[in-house]
Amino acid sequence: MVDYIVVGMGLAGISFCEVLKKNKRSFIAISDDSQVSSVVAGGLYNPVILKRFSLAWNAKEQMESAIPFYKEIEERLKRRLLYKIPVLRRFTSIEEQNLWFEAADKPNLKPFLSPDLKFNTNEHIEAPFGYGEVLGTGRLDTAVLVEAYAANLREKKLLLSETFNFNELRVFDSHIEYKSISAKQIVFATGFGLRENPYFNYLPLNGTKGELLTIKAPLLKEPNVIKSSVFIIPKEKDLYRVGATYNREDKTNLATDGAREELLKKLDSFLKCPYEVVDQVAGVRPTVKDRKPLIGRHPRYPRLYSLNGFGSRGVMLAPTAAQQLFDLVENNKSLNKEIDISRFPYSN
Ligand SMILES: Cc1cc2nc3c(=O)[nH]c(=O)nc-3n(C[C@H](O)[C@H](O)[C@H](O)COP(=O)(O)OP(=O)(O)OC[C@H]3O[C@@H](n4cnc5c(N)ncnc54)[C@H](O)[C@@H]3O)c2cc1C
Repeated sequence: MVDYIVVGMGLAGISFCEVLKKNKRSFIAISDDSQVSSVVAGGLYNPVILKRFSLAWNAKEQMESAIPFYKEIEERLKRRLLYKIPVLRRFTSIEEQNLWFEAADKPNLKPFLSPDLKFNTNEHIEAPFGYGEVLGTGRLDTAVLVEAYAANLREKKLLLSETFNFNELRVFDSHIEYKSISAKQIVFATGFGLRENPYFNYLPLNGTKGELLTIKAPLLKEPNVIKSSVFIIPKEKDLYRVGATYNREDKTNLATDGAREELLKKLDSFLKCPYEVVDQVAGVRPTVKDRKPLIGRHPRYPRLYSLNGFGSRGVMLAPTAAQQLFDLVENNKSLNKEIDISRFPYSN
């Protein structure tokens, strides 16, 4: 008998396993690679919504716990995961500059928006109106995290690399059984895969496909993340990730010509140096109708839980959401209403 089965080893499942480890609870994790959102993600953490210059939901609290959370994993696994990088929002007009300075004056945004106009010094980027700098931002190498975390669990025989088969799940009042494993509860952290889950597929998880390119641009030499119509995210060896797209129709993990053209058109509108596309990836973000996570206990089967719906902000959301779910399971501490799945009527 283990305390938990955790299904899904993306940012959600990893964060939950980490909370279990800290609290000395036993678990078995099960995951396949049917969803790749966490593997392909740009990995940015940034508390500000850069379209509207507003603070993301609960961003301050999330930032405060997410960074030390990943730092601890980084130290334990001895793999570099966190990179502090400024995010520069490229302005397209004087009006946009003014909106930025208005926002930077608001008490909740003040800690995160620099009040100084930053001039462009990179001759390969067209930015005549300059930039606003977001403070406290960076990148989590999500691909390394997923790979290293899974390898560590596999080594300890705590991870089964397989697709969860719902026909083999038995739910009792006192416990659950899956194949030969008995557990007190089971947490589904399956990203967009939740749609295949007969217990939780009543939840309005829409899914939004995103595609990202990797380019090699030896002349660019840009150390900052540039946010314009697309993000340019610097990596090592003159490589930059460029993205992302938002597609609500296509739910596959396949890279498409259409997305590549869209990203390159946007990129060419402000990048003025030669580059070569060296990679393209795609994944489906677990997005929700009301843009809030889907956390909570199943209304009919109280040993079944959902940890999902992180949309395009998994890096910042996952650690606090995992902690809140743990507090619900173990201490019956109520979830924030905005993220609790009980906000959606149950039907089966
Ligand atoms: C192109 C792109 C760029 C992004 N950029 C950023 C960014 O810069 N910053 C940010 O914070 N977020 C970003 N995101 C969003 C972020 O990736 C997600 O919020 C986050 O990864 C979701 O994590 P998750 O663990 O819920 O889901 P997933 O990463 O999808 O993980 C779910 C896991 O469960 C497994 N699984 C599913 N069904 C089953 C089953 N039946 N049996 C076994 N295993 C199963 C899947 O294979 C997968 O391993 C981006 C997403 C995309 C697509």
